Amino acid sequence: MNNYGLYNQEGQAGVDDVSVHRLEEAFSTDLQCFSPDSFLADCGWIFAMDESGKLLTSVEIGDPEFVIAPVCLKPEHGQKVHWQAQENDYTLCMQVIQHETVLGYVGIALPHEVEQAAALSYMNGFMCRIYQALKMNQNEKVSHLLLEVNRSLKLDEVMETIVTRIASIINKGDCMAVIFDEEQDIVAPCWSSSENSLNCWNESISRNSEWLLYQSILEALAGKELLTGRETDDLQLFGEDTSFAGEYVIVPLKYKERTLGLLIVLNETGSPYTPLEQHLIYSLTKDLGLSIHNSSMQLRAQRDEQKRNMWFEITKKIHSSIDVDEVLHAFIDNVKKLYPQMQVDLWLSHDSYSSTLPVKQFTFSAAGYDVSAQAFMEARTIMVNSTGNRTFTLAAPLRGKQGVYGVLEVYTDRPLSLHEREVEYITMLADTAGNAFENAQLYRQSQNLIKELLLINEITQQLNRSIKMNDVLSFITFKLTEIFKTQYCCILHPTKGTEEFTIQAATNHEHINLSIKADGRLKDLLTNRESILIADTCQGEQIFEPFAYRSFMAVPLVNGENVDGAILLMDKRPHFYMFDDFKRLEILAQHVRVAMTNASLHAEVERMVITDNLTGLNNRKYLYDKMAESQALDGYGSIILMDIDHFKLVNDNFGHQIGDNILIQVAGILKSSIRPSDIAARWGGEEMVIYLPRVNMEMAQEVAERVRIKVKEQTTPPVTISSGVTTWFKEDERLSVEHVFQLADEALYEAKHAGRDRVFIASQS
Ligand code: GH3
Ligand code: MG
Ligand code: MG
Repeated sequence: MNNYGLYNQEGQAGVDDVSVHRLEEAFSTDLQCFSPDSFLADCGWIFAMDESGKLLTSVEIGDPEFVIAPVCLKPEHGQKVHWQAQENDYTLCMQVIQHETVLGYVGIALPHEVEQAAALSYMNGFMCRIYQALKMNQNEKVSHLLLEVNRSLKLDEVMETIVTRIASIINKGDCMAVIFDEEQDIVAPCWSSSENSLNCWNESISRNSEWLLYQSILEALAGKELLTGRETDDLQLFGEDTSFAGEYVIVPLKYKERTLGLLIVLNETGSPYTPLEQHLIYSLTKDLGLSIHNSSMQLRAQRDEQKRNMWFEITKKIHSSIDVDEVLHAFIDNVKKLYPQMQVDLWLSHDSYSSTLPVKQFTFSAAGYDVSAQAFMEARTIMVNSTGNRTFTLAAPLRGKQGVYGVLEVYTDRPLSLHEREVEYITMLADTAGNAFENAQLYRQSQNLIKELLLINEITQQLNRSIKMNDVLSFITFKLTEIFKTQYCCILHPTKGTEEFTIQAATNHEHINLSIKADGRLKDLLTNRESILIADTCQGEQIFEPFAYRSFMAVPLVNGENVDGAILLMDKRPHFYMFDDFKRLEILAQHVRVAMTNASLHAEVERMVITDNLTGLNNRKYLYDKMAESQALDGYGSIILMDIDHFKLVNDNFGHQIGDNILIQVAGILKSSIRPSDIAARWGGEEMVIYLPRVNMEMAQEVAERVRIKVKEQTTPPVTISSGVTTWFKEDERLSVEHVFQLADEALYEAKHAGRDRVFIASQS
């Protein structure tokens, strides 16, 4: 084989590798079935040239005495058949042209003896075979590609093969592909023969609206086999500032009449695509549709299976758990896994149960997206295209048997229209979650009910055990803190005649007996008998100062028309109390009120038992018990036994009423003359006693004297008293309450005898 220099013809810019290669391939394919016997002369040459006249390959037949003369294609360039005569031979070249692209020339060199007509017909025959070989070569490439593509059913692998193979066949730059997902109409990720171009592509489309871009490409493609970069200039596919300046061809990937995606073949060589190359790209992609369709179907089947599995998982969770949190978590996780391109929000009309869930509290005034509010009110799935900066929103209500519990909101800012199957699936999923929610809710409610009953039971039991008000109150504060798992509880009591509350009981004992101003919202408790629930005081006022809190609940303790007090619960955590808690506290408050009333009634009865009705002094039994107690505990003590002088006369002169009043006046003097540890009691009739534990004789005498003078000076009509004073000691042989009284009585008797209005000390015996 010989190679000849090339004639540089005007208008020929370099050599088209692909075309030349194709011609060489076709030529050698053809020669495979060629035998020298079938040649039309004993000797000569068959050769192939590129379109500029450069010899590519040649075959020598027989033993020609001439070589292939350089063919001067000028000036008949463009002609399909080219004759040229030399001294010993002549050359006949024929143009090989496909899709307006000249691949080159095939020719023969023959001695002059061979007739030109024979040469021409021989060449015509040979050309037929060249064209056939060309076609065969192309078919072979297409079928090779198909064969390779069909090796896998995985969409990823299929697309990888397509882009890398086509890029290497065309050999002018990278190749990329996008697939439109049939199920969701969204654009699946791109595949590319090089990461660089993919980045470039992504960067470029992210500045445009991806979907609009694809839409306009699809519109431009309508009725065409492919688009070239020039035709898509208007689309500004790759903005001017990208590194993507080269030419490109866009081919649709079609199955039946549907466009599954797009293939983009870049040209980074600088020489434009020939129509032949464009045709080759088209031929290569034309039959890929079925494979892509099949692997998309496979992907869809996988997704369906995944969905079924997820649904099974969720249902299983629901049946195995009554934990709302767990169910909702599983629900949201699965929706997110299934629709990774979408945002998922959960709106609940009830209190939220977890801070780890993307749960939003439902407000019907929610500005902006009322899609969810509508779905909630109408209890049906609603889809809306383009609201605000979203392109698509789907709201599916969480329906249970007794109501709607919230809304699942799925949205995206990417173009999308969900397939009917997907909508059905999400609706079904939301219903499942709604049912689970309802079950869990019912369970929670019954648990709460049980807790309430247990608490009421416990309060009653506690009441039977201890009926002292303080015990009852501290039990209640402790119990409420425990039930509501909160940080602070206190019970307020309105202070009579003031605008204040007193803290009667509190989790923090230091707060007991503190005064709280009953103003602002606390006043509502009193005047309107209204309960208060504050979710977060972040911006609001602290209506209860001793404890810094964010969540606040207060319920008045209503007794008929009156407010006896209030229960306050507080917590430093915001939004700590749910509406359920609030309702529960209101119910419990009624029981608390009953318990408190019982305790105070009991205290009253107890007081009455130990008190003398007329004077309000302690009665004889109480004094007796206290003295016995003191004799057991203390070392010594004194009593003053007093008797009003000539009281019979008072009654006779002024009447019993005044007599009673005198008794009250004297009792008042007694009460005001002693310390809290001392006891004043009515012993009987007009006899009264002061018992002074751990007080000696001198002190007792002093007290007796003081009382005697006060009575004389402060009573109207004025009366006097006589007193007998005695002191007991632990060491006394005959230590008893009776003996002490006997001694005091004797001293009193002496005082009377000595002229009344005096104090006598008992002589110790
Ligand atoms: P003295 O003790 O100085 O010897 O003379 P007296 O008049 O006080 O003595 P006496 O014990 O005889 O009288 C006691 C009187 O006190 C008799 C009774 O009518 C009267 N008295 C007793 N209990 C009450 C009472 O609850 N109310 C009134 N108004 N009078 C009472
Ligand atoms: Mg008397
Ligand atoms: Mg008397």
